[in-house]
Amino acid sequence: MEANTVIQAVYEQVLARNPGEAEFQQAVKEVLDCLGPVLKKHPEYVEAKILDRIVEPERQIMFRVPWQDDKGNIHVNRGFRFEFNSALGPYKGGLRFHPTVSASILKFLGFEQVFKNALTTLPMGGGKGGSDFDPKGKSDNEVMRFCQSFMTELFRHIGPDTDVPAGDIGVGGREIGFMFGQYKRLRNEFTGVLTGKALNWGGSLIRPEATGYGCVYFAEEMLKTRGQSFEGKVCTVSGSGNVAQYTIEKLNQLGAKAVSLSDSNGTIYDPDGINTEKLAFILNLKNVKRGRIKEYSDKFGVEYLEGKRPWGIKCDCAFPSATQNEIDVEDAKTLLKNGCTLVAEGANMPSTPEAINQYITNKVLYGPAKAANAGGVATSGLEMSQNSARLSWTREEVDERLHNIMIAIHNQSYEAAEEYGQPGNLAMGANIAGFVKVADSMLDQGLV
Ligand code: NDP
Repeated sequence: MEANTVIQAVYEQVLARNPGEAEFQQAVKEVLDCLGPVLKKHPEYVEAKILDRIVEPERQIMFRVPWQDDKGNIHVNRGFRFEFNSALGPYKGGLRFHPTVSASILKFLGFEQVFKNALTTLPMGGGKGGSDFDPKGKSDNEVMRFCQSFMTELFRHIGPDTDVPAGDIGVGGREIGFMFGQYKRLRNEFTGVLTGKALNWGGSLIRPEATGYGCVYFAEEMLKTRGQSFEGKVCTVSGSGNVAQYTIEKLNQLGAKAVSLSDSNGTIYDPDGINTEKLAFILNLKNVKRGRIKEYSDKFGVEYLEGKRPWGIKCDCAFPSATQNEIDVEDAKTLLKNGCTLVAEGANMPSTPEAINQYITNKVLYGPAKAANAGGVATSGLEMSQNSARLSWTREEVDERLHNIMIAIHNQSYEAAEEYGQPGNLAMGANIAGFVKVADSMLDQGLV
């Protein structure tokens, strides 16, 4: 059968089997659309039905999470874990706690994770999980009770050689700590079952910084292909959480000027740049006080764009670091009109397919999420290695490994794009390089 017919048939099957799951369907289409030339070159993938298998999670777990608030009221949330593909290693991918969490969102993230993890060069399969629980406005005790209840079911399904979750939106060091404590108590085992742990009890240096730093390292490689550097570049960043914070830190170190941050209520615009002192304020505001980004504009007297995203601000480079589909086609056109020449995705799937088309046709340097934000999971992989060997590497050692991994991811994506006839198209290159590695491993392991 012709490659495009195979792809269309698989996509139609995905639509039929996953009705109403728009995000998952979007993520699958984005990968499938790149695979025509690969199937032509590798008919063995078609024969072994690799596409049909790769779009179906190996295992899907859904469970009830009952918990009590501080007043004694009972709440019931939904917990999920999608164990997508273990061809390359134990399932690996974050947990997201956010009221918008659904099967569709976690399946899109789990699917993406499979190819992202393949690109890191480390032995990790792909998975994703989480809950529709909203940690915002909850006390530490409420978050702890929720995390304990969540882990009381999840612990049966995970383990250091089976499935190793990490953080994502709404799951940072505090939540990982509470879940690790409960896992240890239930299993009576101290193992590296979660990554993103605190340093004192098995965490890795640079893990908190890794996604943001990695995204900037990746963008730096893209700039180098045009003989440019970050020196003097004006950058917009969305979000104000883990990824956004360390993206700004690394941009500052490389001589760029980051001028925006946002949360789900609005955006701050600081034309003078978010320097080290202002970034320290953000870290305290977001990670300790758990306040809103508007407080930055009150403190430093800068503009606050209520209900807006940062894409109307003039910039050379854009770093979407909040959530999926946060740049639509109109935002992309505005970015281009204002002279933006680079988009590096810290968040997962932040650009709609129409926005991506704009980048590709206008030769914007575009770092797709599964390549550009893979530094987080790569460093989680390094945390797993340190846990297994029961040792800790220095900050410099982890940072150097992270940097080299990001260079390798860029090179693999760049080379695959060339090999398959779309030079410079890193979205296509990343999808192909990740897919081929997983597909070959699935062939090696027989029909499972
Ligand atoms: P955090 O929870 O630390 O921060 C998330 C930020 O995004 C907050 O500022 C939040 O604002 C904002 N945000 C979340 N949902 C929405 C929404 N629906 N609309 C507008 N703003 C929103 O998460 P991370 O920084 O860890 O994650 C950010 C992105 O990066 C996600 O897409 C995640 O999947 C991706 N990512 C994270 C990795 C990691 O290592 N942490 C690794 C790879 C990718 P508010 O406080 O108002 O909700």
